[in-house]
Amino acid sequence: MTIKKIPMRTCVACHTTRPKRELVRIVRKVDGQLMIDRRGKVSGRGAYLCPTRDCVAEALKSHRIERALEVALSPELLHELEQLGGGAE
Ligand SMILES: [Zn+2]
Repeated sequence: MTIKKIPMRTCVACHTTRPKRELVRIVRKVDGQLMIDRRGKVSGRGAYLCPTRDCVAEALKSHRIERALEVALSPELLHELEQLGGGAE
């Protein structure tokens, strides 16, 4: 019997380890642009975040994503992130 291993990742804001697919992946693509990778398929360096208002707010306030990925967030991406945290609660 094999146990299927679930890939786990850590949120950059609250440092909770959760299954990868429960987190939002922000990826720095090879061209240096950041984007939200909704399918987990984009290659590049990634940072993970819970899709909650608290974690999004904390990540933005403390510049966690910029620090993790060493790139500034574009206004468009900032807006997209704010939408993530502002949804159903
Ligand atoms: Zn979190």
